[in-house]
Amino acid sequence: MESEKILEIINIGMKYHTLKAESTAISGLNFNVYKEEFITIVGPSGCGKSTILSLISGLIKPSEGNVNISISDSEKYIQKVGYMLQKDYLFEWRTIEQNVLLGLELKHALTEESKSYALELTKKYGLGEFLQHYPSQLSGGMRQKAALIRTLAVKPQILLLDEPFSALDYQTRINISEEILNIIKNEKKTAVLVSHDISEAVSLSDRVIIFSSRPSKVKKIINIDFGQDKLSLHEKRNHKNFNNYFDTVWSELVD
Ligand code: ADP
Ligand code: MG
Repeated sequence: MESEKILEIINIGMKYHTLKAESTAISGLNFNVYKEEFITIVGPSGCGKSTILSLISGLIKPSEGNVNISISDSEKYIQKVGYMLQKDYLFEWRTIEQNVLLGLELKHALTEESKSYALELTKKYGLGEFLQHYPSQLSGGMRQKAALIRTLAVKPQILLLDEPFSALDYQTRINISEEILNIIKNEKKTAVLVSHDISEAVSLSDRVIIFSSRPSKVKKIINIDFGQDKLSLHEKRNHKNFNNYFDTVWSELVD
């Protein structure tokens, strides 16, 4: 793994205002993400995990602190950050091809070049024969993959994934999360995943960042190392180190 810092979360504070009150969701949050790392954020429900992804994407601005994204000039992106959610947000009346090209259309970046890149990805990752199908004709896992390819089509350097597998059944979840991890590694992307599934966090990530309950900050960061590259998720789940990592994350979350 290269150690070029690509994302810095510096002293972030986030307050939400409602008509009656002000509430602090995040306070004094700091962490870094390095190029081509796969990070998973875990933490109690409502602690601000989705909020931090929205802050990184620039959809909302922090009340305090900064989000720094540094991307070298040589890297071509249409959109710095790509966002993928639990629901795939595919449009049912558009074909898979039309869905995959949607991000490029919205960015006014649909050219011969960007289109052929998007279609290449679709073929490379096994959706080529479904381009003229509609989302309802695809399984849940394949729909998520189409959503990922739509996100990758705008060549983001950082991918944000907010519980993208949690609506899928267990077996599909394992298969598709493995495929998605491989695609992200293959395409050399940096990824920040939010998950409430400890096994998923441990088996997918290079590091797991545990948030405290709100106002949340980083409680602990755990480096995951199985001593070998390219283990399958199944092999990681059966690895002797797996239970230790699981227990460490678990005990940080309950205490
Ligand atoms: P998580 O994803 O970890 O479950 P969120 O980031 O969605 O948590 O929310 C963190 C906290 O901020 C929660 O207490 C939630 O109620 C509050 N919150 C989130 N979005 C808003 C909003 N738009 N207005 C007011 N409060 C919000
Ligand atoms: Mg959330």
